Amino acid sequence: MKFVYDFTEGNKDLKDLLGGKGANLAEMTNLGLPVPPGFTITTEACKVYLDSGEEPVALRDEVSAHLEALEATMGKKLGQAGDPLLVSVRSGAKFSMPGMMDTVLNIGLSDKSVQGLAKQAGDDRFAWDSYRRLIQMFGKTVLGVDGDLFEEALEAAKEAKKVTVDTELEAADLKKLVAKFKKIVKAEAGRDFPQDPREQMDLAIKAVFDSWNGDRAKLYRRQERIPHDLGTAVNVCSMVFGNLGPDSGTGVAFTRDPASGHQGVYGDYLQNAQGEDVVAGIRNTVPLAELETIDKKSYDQLMQIMETLENHYKDLCDIEFTIERGQLWMLQTRVGKRTAGAAFRIATQLVDQGLIDEAEALQRVTGAQLAQLMFPRFDEQAKVEQVGRGIAASPGAAVGKAVFDSYTAVKWSRSGEKVILVRRETNPDDLDGMIAAEGILTSRGGKTSHAAVVARGMGKTCVCGAEELEVDTKRRRMTVPGGHIVEEGDLISIDGSSGKVYLGEVPVVPSPVVEYFEGRMHAGADDADELVEAVHRIMAFADRKRRLRVRANADNAEDALRARRFGAQGIGLCRTEHMFLGDRRELVERLILADTEAEREESLKELLPLQKKDFVELFEAMDGLPVTIRLLDPPLHEFLPDITELSVRVALAESRQEPHENELRLLQAVHRLHEANPMLGLRGVRLGLVIPGLFTMQVRAIAEAAAERKSAKGDPRAEIMIPLVGTVQELEIVREEADQVIADVQAATGTELKLSIGTMIELPRAALTAGQIAEAAEFFSFGTNDLTQTVWGFSRDDVEASFFTAYLEKGIFGVSPFETIDRDGVGSLVELAARAGRATRPDLKLGVCGEHGGDPESVHFFHAVGLDYVSCSPFRIPVARLEAGRAAS
Ligand code: PEP
Ligand code: MG
Repeated sequence: MKFVYDFTEGNKDLKDLLGGKGANLAEMTNLGLPVPPGFTITTEACKVYLDSGEEPVALRDEVSAHLEALEATMGKKLGQAGDPLLVSVRSGAKFSMPGMMDTVLNIGLSDKSVQGLAKQAGDDRFAWDSYRRLIQMFGKTVLGVDGDLFEEALEAAKEAKKVTVDTELEAADLKKLVAKFKKIVKAEAGRDFPQDPREQMDLAIKAVFDSWNGDRAKLYRRQERIPHDLGTAVNVCSMVFGNLGPDSGTGVAFTRDPASGHQGVYGDYLQNAQGEDVVAGIRNTVPLAELETIDKKSYDQLMQIMETLENHYKDLCDIEFTIERGQLWMLQTRVGKRTAGAAFRIATQLVDQGLIDEAEALQRVTGAQLAQLMFPRFDEQAKVEQVGRGIAASPGAAVGKAVFDSYTAVKWSRSGEKVILVRRETNPDDLDGMIAAEGILTSRGGKTSHAAVVARGMGKTCVCGAEELEVDTKRRRMTVPGGHIVEEGDLISIDGSSGKVYLGEVPVVPSPVVEYFEGRMHAGADDADELVEAVHRIMAFADRKRRLRVRANADNAEDALRARRFGAQGIGLCRTEHMFLGDRRELVERLILADTEAEREESLKELLPLQKKDFVELFEAMDGLPVTIRLLDPPLHEFLPDITELSVRVALAESRQEPHENELRLLQAVHRLHEANPMLGLRGVRLGLVIPGLFTMQVRAIAEAAAERKSAKGDPRAEIMIPLVGTVQELEIVREEADQVIADVQAATGTELKLSIGTMIELPRAALTAGQIAEAAEFFSFGTNDLTQTVWGFSRDDVEASFFTAYLEKGIFGVSPFETIDRDGVGSLVELAARAGRATRPDLKLGVCGEHGGDPESVHFFHAVGLDYVSCSPFRIPVARLEAGRAAS
């Protein structure tokens, strides 16, 4: 196996092996762009190291051979005294993990070679500054020395000199600082800073391998659902310097605005600095457009390269570059992260430019991004007190209590508080606070600072670089212009789309995308919102592509109408138990308590017209589209009073010697129906079988409602669904009764009704005997909530609050199986039942109506196993439509 690839050997499709950075460096090299020469150590080498604790035997020799080739190309040797070759050692995994792993620059510098570098560059200050950076980075990331010790020594040197920025330190100061740094290393790491350049390089490579399993990296991967076994590649690249004076510098650029998608010049530039200074947001950058006046030649070349890259990758790219004494070098490129809104705009722009087709455009957006665009925004009409404005780094409207450190953010959010994490700037140690917060606000750093990049990746609202805010993390407060002080716990609101910061809680309004789906905003108009336009077009692409139909889980006409506006093609689940709440609860109570047939008949008779009215409204709202009505499902005791409360009432009445006959009767019923595991008890079809007349009343209500709609020239398409069936016999009995009722209603009304009868598949036994069940069912709808509960043996009402956090932390699953379908377990049963059902009845209609029906990843699975439709809550319908389109393209 080959463990090392020269940049000239790889290409962009080798991300698994070379990591994103390495693959793209190779691609740029092969495009003839100015990339400093270097080589990449593969993720395979990393995996061997992580598995065995030892680097692969062949690695050392391969690195030596590639280093020699690099030295030959560059005409100098690594760390050679008179004219040293210096290299950077950088991590680069398959998926970008910004700031999560380690980088060491300037490898090859030593007490001897620093002199050579000074001579070659004609700049003592630069050489000593490079050396102190090496010791600092190497000390921290390779030798594990506390980075603050170096920072404090640097601050002390600046104070001693009475200067504020590090560029004001002179060669002599930096020389002293190097001595100080070496002492720190010796004291803290128990060894000298290595003077042998090859030892520096080898240790740095190992440190990058190790950083894959650092806490920060692991947490980031869990959050982003990146597998833990991929490993990282390591890039060894000859150094170019952005800190060689005013004709040098470093920057970050985007081929389009990652926040809006607009074409233009977007990025930040920092003169006389190294790349880390930009990413860390330590010094403030200038907008990239200013490079045109600083260095026109490099600027023009950069614009040219950006165009080449966009046309080559057919997507927005982000770029890191360095200018060394007027010579432009490309240090990195990748398909850039972007906001949700920009993803939609860019996808349609690229279609218009003829760079991609509709199917590809669908791959450039996700349901999660669409969901994000459906979040509410701040009300523009609201009276607000704006106290600052920073850079709109990641869109959204976030309101919460200001907290000034990650620990508090996590603690408060665990106790249910909404918090905004306020920092001067964030670093990778703030990750868990950022996850816990509603939004992130920083007073320093640009669009490419850590806070901005990470927040965008998480889809979290972020405003950064709000410079007029004075953040004092030690005293846990910030001072806003005018002197007002925001203390920890004070409410603030931040707008990640405009960068504005407000005191107090600003009310929020719906997003334009929701207004569009609601039909209150239109695409195609002259002044149409650009985002709405893009969403409209992408939804049309998805609707053209998808095979899966999308239905709604809706129980009343209002929800049904909304679902229809959002694109629902029917109702996949109407839970009738929701129709028995409120005033009707008493009627159900009487039904449950009925001692005689007559009493029972009486309460059913009262319920019938109410149910019928519900269905008439629903059929009207969904006229012409299928409406699946599920007969009553929940345990009966849910309709009865609370056992404890009732016991107290009875006991009180007894002690006061008041009449309490009715209460006592109720209490006895409650006791009789009380179940230790109600989810596995008397519910679903079991209820229909033991409470005579209940299901037939519901079927009658459906049939009569359908007949009424028909006589009103409507087109009702009811489907009657029997829940929690475990065996075909249950279904057969209910079905026989239902068929009889339907026949009665047809005869009585003289209307022909086409009502189909089907079942939910939500028990393992039902899935395993689906072939038999299909004999009596015209359709199956997978109830993946109960199916997940019963396949795993997890109580769906309890687990998320009890042990799921521990399971997620231990990596037993990356996401709750109640959220995303467990393909291997629950999914296999779905697949098996679908196949067996269709073997019995080839035209069996198949759908899913559990929560998974609106989950992006699960939608792809349901597409793959050949279901006909997914059904989900009205607000998730656009997401399901989009994902169904993506699954099919
Ligand atoms: C299910 O079990 O997946 C389902 C849709 O039914 P309910 O959630 O009402 O039990
Ligand atoms: Mg269920």
